[in-house]
Amino acid sequence: AQPVLAVVGRPNVGKSTLVNRILGRREAVVQDVPGVTRDRVAYDAFWAGRRFTLVDTGGWEPDATGLQASVAAQAEMAMRTADAVLLVVDATVGATTTDEAVARVLRRSKKPVLLAANKVDDDRLLADTASLWSLGLGEPHPVSALHGRSSGDLLDSIMAAL
Ligand code: GDP
Ligand code: MG
Repeated sequence: AQPVLAVVGRPNVGKSTLVNRILGRREAVVQDVPGVTRDRVAYDAFWAGRRFTLVDTGGWEPDATGLQASVAAQAEMAMRTADAVLLVVDATVGATTTDEAVARVLRRSKKPVLLAANKVDDDRLLADTASLWSLGLGEPHPVSALHGRSSGDLLDSIMAAL
């Protein structure tokens, strides 16, 4: 079976946009309407001559347990079912307490975890991404899912981890 990469993170950080960027197409998966994105959607992806399965863990709407608990539960699920996990954070916001809670869960992972600092649409935001080292998940990979900036570099790192 091909390796599985799960994409996790808070709502609105750009997970689905990044997934579409990686897939090289614009699908109607990105939804601004809360609750519209289905819970987990798996896609067949391809990079550098290798196939892998890309899982977009959308629909992390805060349930009765609250946002932090529901996002942490998704991270646990990703760690169990995927071969590697990509945590996406919004570089324009920085690390929130929810990001920190998810990172705490992911730091226990025996599987590779990568960190994408999304929405780095221009160079002025690059300096801010350094603060994301504090999440304890290694090097933050700056990307702009919207514009495609550095997504190739991120994919190279992902393939090296898978
Ligand atoms: P998700 O909830 O994490 O799946 O986030 P979405 O992919 O649905 O994106 C949420 C919002 O962020 C949408 O309005 C996107 O257009 C926007 N967005 C995603 N990636 C970027 C980016 O790289 N730069 C900017 N400026 N906006 C982005
Ligand atoms: Mg989504």
